[in-house]
Amino acid sequence: MRSWVEVAADSHFPIQNLPYGVFSTGDNEPRVGVRIGDFVLDLVALHDAGLLPGANVYDRPFINDLMALGPRAWQEVRNAITDILRESEPTLRDDDELRSATLIPVSQVKMHLPVRIGAFVDFYSSEQHATNVGSMFRPDAPLMPNWKHLPVGYNGRASSVVVSGTPIKRPHGQTAPGQSTEPIFGPSKNLDFELEVGFFTGTENPLGNQVPTSRAADFIFGLVLVNDWSARDIQRWEYQPLGPFLAKSFATTISPWVVTMAALDPFRIAGPDQDPPVLDYLKYDKPWRLDMDLEIHLKTERMSQPQVICRTNYKNMYWNMAQQLAHQTVNGTNVQIGDLYASGTVSGDEPDSFGSMLELAWRGERPLVMQETGEERKFLEDGDTVMLTGHCQGDGYRIGFGEASGTIRPA
Ligand code: CA
Repeated sequence: MRSWVEVAADSHFPIQNLPYGVFSTGDNEPRVGVRIGDFVLDLVALHDAGLLPGANVYDRPFINDLMALGPRAWQEVRNAITDILRESEPTLRDDDELRSATLIPVSQVKMHLPVRIGAFVDFYSSEQHATNVGSMFRPDAPLMPNWKHLPVGYNGRASSVVVSGTPIKRPHGQTAPGQSTEPIFGPSKNLDFELEVGFFTGTENPLGNQVPTSRAADFIFGLVLVNDWSARDIQRWEYQPLGPFLAKSFATTISPWVVTMAALDPFRIAGPDQDPPVLDYLKYDKPWRLDMDLEIHLKTERMSQPQVICRTNYKNMYWNMAQQLAHQTVNGTNVQIGDLYASGTVSGDEPDSFGSMLELAWRGERPLVMQETGEERKFLEDGDTVMLTGHCQGDGYRIGFGEASGTIRPA
């Protein structure tokens, strides 16, 4: 399938993708749009022209009201937009006035946080990441006994989730250098990133009810890239016994375009085998892994071009989204429209496929070298920019996420 909008073969945003985001132009209020090639399709203008079914849920600063329409409407709206952009469809293609009112070059828009996020949950679902981090602190038993029986996670902080491009201020906090048990106070010296993939729930589930894996598709609206910024020195001092607190809650960056499950459906793959067998409520009957290439790019202030420091794939995850949602709700907690569930750091088997600086530079023992400048990195310095990107490769097209980027500002 092709669109009359010209889209390069390596673009993240062909007609097969059509992700939702929130954008503004000039002094106008933020509103909902869809990305196609190097353009944003203004859904307010499209609805005003009578080309979208149902209510106008697009003149809003978030896509929550669109998600609230429910799975059947998600498909109807997607079908309508696909039809309008299809190569053979003249309505918008041949109407110069309407086309220039609805199709805006990305260079002219500012992107905003796409979702009003009620809750943020972070899982820990890569066996390689859990093993790497575990082996640094518990060499004899890197994986805890529960790890292969449940998708470990914690409730994070939704209020500090920011859209790509937002500067990240280095956090202050308590740390206890070396073996000390007397803390000092100051800016984090071990600032890190975590490459993750997150999903948004677009359907509510009342308190006291579970979401079985068989119903996950009705709840999962779409996915974004997530950078779970982490202050390792603060984390090391504070995390026992209840887990990370201030080490993670200062900022989390997401990519601006929410890629729908409908667009990602062709990239589902089976597996992995889970041994020991999981409890019944974690069993699932259709493929939920996604074959999605992921990269981390790092650029210091002195570099003119970023350097790729990690190549990995989302299919490396041991626990999938349906299992994460089923586990999250098995105690009856309620799901809201606009909750964000992050995967946990996506790490592969090879040293250049690890999704955090902690692992890539192995706790500072193997500093990364920037080819262009010869600079070394054990953790992030002020002025460093971290950019996550990712896509699924189809036959002649890509379903991409754009990027999730952030630059470190001094404390
Ligand atoms: Ca994380």
